Amino acid sequence: MSEITGLAFKARELDAGDELAGVRARFVLDDVVYLDGNSLGALPAAVPGRVDDVVRRQWGELRIRSWEESGWWTAPERIGDRIAPLVGAAAGQIVVGDSTSVNVFKALVGAVRMARLAGQERDEIVVDATTFPTDGYIAGSAARLTGCTLRAVTPAEVRGVLGDRTAAVLLNHVDYRTGRLHDLPGLTAAVHAAGAVVVWDLCHSAGALPVGLDAHGVDLAVGCTYKYLNGGPGSPAYLYVRHDVQDRFDSPLPGWNSHAEPFGMRPDYTPAAGASRGRVGTPDILSMLALEAALEVWDGVPVESVRAKSLALTDFFLECVAAYVPAGRVESLTPVAHEERGSQVALRCADAEAVMKRLIERGVVGDFRHPDVLRFGFTPLYVGFADVERAAAVLARTWGDGGGAG
Ligand SMILES: *Cc1c(COP(=O)(O)O)cnc(C)c1O
Repeated sequence: MSEITGLAFKARELDAGDELAGVRARFVLDDVVYLDGNSLGALPAAVPGRVDDVVRRQWGELRIRSWEESGWWTAPERIGDRIAPLVGAAAGQIVVGDSTSVNVFKALVGAVRMARLAGQERDEIVVDATTFPTDGYIAGSAARLTGCTLRAVTPAEVRGVLGDRTAAVLLNHVDYRTGRLHDLPGLTAAVHAAGAVVVWDLCHSAGALPVGLDAHGVDLAVGCTYKYLNGGPGSPAYLYVRHDVQDRFDSPLPGWNSHAEPFGMRPDYTPAAGASRGRVGTPDILSMLALEAALEVWDGVPVESVRAKSLALTDFFLECVAAYVPAGRVESLTPVAHEERGSQVALRCADAEAVMKRLIERGVVGDFRHPDVLRFGFTPLYVGFADVERAAAVLARTWGDGGGAG
């Protein structure tokens, strides 16, 4: 009992010293402990009003004039530039649009084509065998289309399979299941040393920790915007193409929006310069402008502060779980070392699906990943330390009142 009081007290102190505590007011939230922002970020308060304006005024009144007057046409690049500082990229290298899956396709086929420009016959694509499934499926198709062999290996094995046959390597920055953070600088350097091109999937890192795309010389990257970037269900993804490889990026989906002169309506394709080369067709304006409003929650919020709080939150959750949950009930899959940890905690436990259902009924929302994983995502913009303590206490109680938190 004294331990519980102690951790609740500690939570209060940590919340009092939290420089990001005020950012929570920029979101629409209730008293549910929402630990699923790594799947669907919460609603930023600015979004409903913006969507209303986009629909009623921009579409309803200005109609076609909005492509110019409301900045619709340039939204993919403009919003890309808003995401850029969050992933350590200078302006002019990111376009927003399409789903992550589609951008993985563009990036990976583009990467193979780029690798072959050097003249060597490179015929292997390396992919993380533990990846979020869509990346693996797309990589398989990209391999067939480009005449490559697909080599699926664990991230720890990647360095050992790189060689002069490697064309492209597709990796996840943070593993969606375990929350493990992979070594982006080191693996990028290893891929480059082999003469190959690297594509990073940032779905579980962008908005949760510094990525440093430019600093580490990443070639291509993709990510979604509905997890830690809170863009809303199905909000468009983004594609990063580093400045000095943009001229060599040959998109496998060269739609009219990526033409150098989209309104020239020419029969022959000439790619646009710059990040716009990653565009395809008409952008999904309603979702995209909802995302633009959502990104305003980042005003004045350094991603380094977000990372510091994220690590403090996950450390504190592990501490509370260790104190409250009876021994042997759960086993953490999340690395203890900070340099290997994303912004989530994954706990393996028997009957995980039923346990998560009980948690959700009691106001703590995480998610279940097949077959036996409880996943808890910590979005530092709106999750506090008292939430973390409560989540662990409720988790302990799912095994009955004798569970240590009574
Ligand atoms: C969430 C996620 C996706 C989602 O792909 P969509 O095309 O946006 O549905 C892809 N890859 C990874 C690693 C993810 O975590």
